[in-house]
Amino acid sequence: MTHAPTDRPVLVLNAGSSSLKYQLVVPESGELRAAGIVERIGESGSEVADHAAALEVMGAQLRDDGVHLDDVALRAVGHRVVHGGPDFSAPVVIDDAVLERIRQLSALAPLHNPAAVIGIEAARGRFDVPHVAVFDTAFFSSLPAEASTYAVPRDLAAKHSIRRYGFHGTSHQFVAQATADLLGRPLTDLRQVILHLGNGCSASAVRGGHAVDTSMGLTPLQGLVMGTRSGDVDPGLHAYLSREAGMSIDEIDTVLNKRSGVLGLSGVNDFRELVHRVEAGDDAARLAFDVVVHRLKHYVGAYLAILGGADVLVFTAGIGQHSAPVRAAVADGLGELGIAVDPARNGDGSTGARIISSDDSRVVVAVVPTDEELAIARQTAELVG
Ligand code: ADP
Repeated sequence: MTHAPTDRPVLVLNAGSSSLKYQLVVPESGELRAAGIVERIGESGSEVADHAAALEVMGAQLRDDGVHLDDVALRAVGHRVVHGGPDFSAPVVIDDAVLERIRQLSALAPLHNPAAVIGIEAARGRFDVPHVAVFDTAFFSSLPAEASTYAVPRDLAAKHSIRRYGFHGTSHQFVAQATADLLGRPLTDLRQVILHLGNGCSASAVRGGHAVDTSMGLTPLQGLVMGTRSGDVDPGLHAYLSREAGMSIDEIDTVLNKRSGVLGLSGVNDFRELVHRVEAGDDAARLAFDVVVHRLKHYVGAYLAILGGADVLVFTAGIGQHSAPVRAAVADGLGELGIAVDPARNGDGSTGARIISSDDSRVVVAVVPTDEELAIARQTAELVG
C-alpha cells in the first residue's frame, strides 16, 4: 500500500526521567491516531527497565489500541526537548552532533535534557526514520536583548551562556496563532498576553507573532507561581538559606523546584484540589490561591506596559483552560486597563477556543486550548518535508 505523505503520521515523544509520553499524529489534519504514557521507567520494582523497554511497552499499548507500529508508514519522530540553549533557535534534524550538543546543554537543564537524550537514543535505535528535536526555548530565542539580558557582569554571562531563555515556547507559539485564528485577525496585527497555566506556568508578551518577553528565565524556575516551583524569589534567598539554614545549593534548588509553589504553600499541587480546599474554607489553600493570582496580575500588568496595551489576553493549559475561578480572579479589578471578563461566558464550562470577555471589554479575553504535541508534529513534518 502506498501512502500520500499527508496521511503519514508523526510519532511525538516527550521523554521524562521516569516517563515517556507519546502521540501518533497526522500533522496536516491533526488526526490523533493514538496517545498514551509509559510510567515508572527505571524505578525499583518496575517492569520497564529503561527507555528502550518503554518503547516496547508503547508498541504493546499501541497494539492494544489497534495500531501496529511496523505497519504504520511513520514519517518521522518529533522529540520534545526542553533546553536548546544558545545554539538552537528552531527545530533541527537530529544527528550525532546535535545529540551531543543537547547532552552538553544538560548543564542548563539538569532536570530535563538528560531524559530527552536517553529518549532520543532509544528511539533512534528503534525507528529508522528522521528524528527531529523541537525545543521549548526556540520561540523565545529572538527575545529583544533588553528582555533576555540579566544585569550581571557581561563576561560572566558570556562565559556561562547566562540569559533569559524562556520555556513552553512551543505552546506559546501555537496558542498565539490559534488565538489569531479564533479572532479572525492576522497574527501580525496582534499584541497578545498569553498565560500558560499547567503544572508549569509561564506568561509571554507577543507582538505580531514574535515573543518580546516571557516569565521563565535561564531555567523554568523563574516567574509565575507553579505547582511545585516557587517562581520569582529574591535572588538573595539562596545565599540567605545557605548561610542561615546550612542548606547546600542542591538542597535549595530542590526545595525551590519540587517543594515550593502551590504545594509548598498549601500541601497540594493539583489545582483542582486547591480550589476545592479554598471552597471548603482552608486558609492555607486560600493564601496559595491569592499568591498565584497576585503574581499573575503582576505579569499581566508588566506585559501591558511592555506591549503598550494589548489586543488580547489568553488563558491556556490545564488551569488556564479549565479553572474559571482563576480567570475571574486575574481579571478582577482590571476594568481601568480595559479588561473585563463576562461571568456567564467564563463559567459556562465549554472546552473549545472561545472568548470570555464582555462585549465592552477593550481587550479581548480568550481561552485557547494548547496542543504541544500537534505543534511538534507540524514542525517536525515541515522540517523533513
Ligand atoms: P502539564 O503542564 O503537565 O501539561 P496541564 O496543562 O495538564 O499540565 O495542567 C495541569 C494542571 O491543570 C493541574 O494543576 C490540574 O489540577 C489543573 N487542572 C486540570 N483541570 C482543572 C480544572 N477543571 N480546574 C482546575 N484546575 C484544573
